[in-house]
Amino acid sequence: MTETRLKPCRCLLDEAAPDLARTVREYVESLPEETRAEEALYRARLRVCEACDALRSGTCGLCGCYVEARAAKRVQNCPAVPRKW
Ligand code: SF4
Repeated sequence: MTETRLKPCRCLLDEAAPDLARTVREYVESLPEETRAEEALYRARLRVCEACDALRSGTCGLCGCYVEARAAKRVQNCPAVPRKW
């Protein structure tokens, strides 16, 4: 008998957990303007996360953070070595 394994979910929170996504979005919007990544940078970072094998239901498998919150802070970076963003 062959073992069937489920593929880990690699979606962002909007798809994985809408209520949590709303909370994270509120957090992102509450960040002071001077600490927030520009919209284009934020979107580019999240595109990288969406294609990353470490992404698990909106969470980074390397550090455990919500990638949508991490990517929103200008000074943050990806915890992978080498960094993906
Ligand atoms: S390792 Fe980097 S690119 Fe991958 S999910 Fe985590 S933060 Fe995103």
